[in-house]
Amino acid sequence: MKTSEHLMKTYAPLDVTFKRGEGAWLWDTDDNQYLDALSGIAVCGLGHAHPAITKSICEQASKLLHTSNLYNIDKQQHLADQLCEISNLNRVFFSNSGAEANEAAIKIARLYGHNNNIDKPLIIVMENSFHGRTMATLSASGTRKIQAGFEPLVQGFIRAPYNNIEAIKNIAENNSDVVAILVEPVQGEGGINIPNKDYLNQLRDICDQQNWLLMLDEIQTGMGRTGEWFAFQHNKIQPDVMTLAKALGNGVPIGACLANEKTGKVFQPGNHGSTFGGNPLMCATASTVIDTIKSENLISNAVRMGSYIADNLREKLSKLDGVSEIRNLGLMIGIVLDNDRLNCECSDLVKLALDKHLLINVTAGNVIRLLPPLIISQQQADTIINTISELVISVLHKKKAA
Ligand SMILES: *Cc1c(COP(=O)(O)O)cnc(C)c1O
Repeated sequence: MKTSEHLMKTYAPLDVTFKRGEGAWLWDTDDNQYLDALSGIAVCGLGHAHPAITKSICEQASKLLHTSNLYNIDKQQHLADQLCEISNLNRVFFSNSGAEANEAAIKIARLYGHNNNIDKPLIIVMENSFHGRTMATLSASGTRKIQAGFEPLVQGFIRAPYNNIEAIKNIAENNSDVVAILVEPVQGEGGINIPNKDYLNQLRDICDQQNWLLMLDEIQTGMGRTGEWFAFQHNKIQPDVMTLAKALGNGVPIGACLANEKTGKVFQPGNHGSTFGGNPLMCATASTVIDTIKSENLISNAVRMGSYIADNLREKLSKLDGVSEIRNLGLMIGIVLDNDRLNCECSDLVKLALDKHLLINVTAGNVIRLLPPLIISQQQADTIINTISELVISVLHKKKAA
């Protein structure tokens, strides 16, 4: 099927159109069935057409979609209470996307700096990071590709290599204008880069010593994906600011910027806002997402199925020439390939998997990224394991024969 000539060419979509989903399954317009091991890039954690989500959306839509933040919104207050309970943070601002949640975090850091007499506040950001596509968030991101052509970039960011504490200490020694660190607990777009176990703890210590804010971008890692509600909970620390989006709404657009006691008071009326942010429909849906993750014990399923898939893939693939490493934290799974050992471009694997009716993603040029829904069953996990193993082996073997 041809794509419309009236769409801007911001994407190059695959030649498939889905019309229906159920759980981890999708059906295309010709009624072919696919297994979704990507969840719309970590969005549909509860899978497609989850009955509780459908019911919640229909009920709220039949009552009220939108009023305005000029009035109290009870669904927004309830969701804020729920998010603060599961994160142990204190205050929430609701946005419509991840990038906007990060914009709020960046503005909080800058205002916090100005309140502390730092006129040109700097935020430390990481190499290979991804924080969004707005001007500030693409400037904060650590890949040149998404910045090129959009200069002048937003100022006020200073870059450090990921998972490198010495680099952060070095910045601390040489800069008195730093106010915050913005970092992903696991880099998603960057290639499922999982830092050392105590990385976040060490960042927390430095931030405490320097009076900097630790701001975690949990847009991809949050909402149970890594086997905790939020990835920072593996480290038993608390951030000062945390951003969410993606899986928060299971497909309805909602983002959130959470803050603690100290940072939650930085914004005052007039400092920030959003017309759609925190509207009744989005908030009611996100509340149902949280309730459902709890009632269906989906975080333990993420732990169990994450290990199951990653361990089996390791068993089948990790000894092969051409497979460098298999990484996972819960259901964030990365299979790192050696491009020199492939008989095709790594990105071609997405299409080859689609031909086998499996949805996957390739990121950072050489990493197969799997983000299956949290509701994935063991049988579906077996299908992912077998299909991926066959696929990887097929693109390695042909090279050897040649
Ligand atoms: C997807 C993502 C974003 C951007 O979210 P949008 O909703 O696309 O604006 C930001 N940070 C991380 C870590 C992400 O994975």
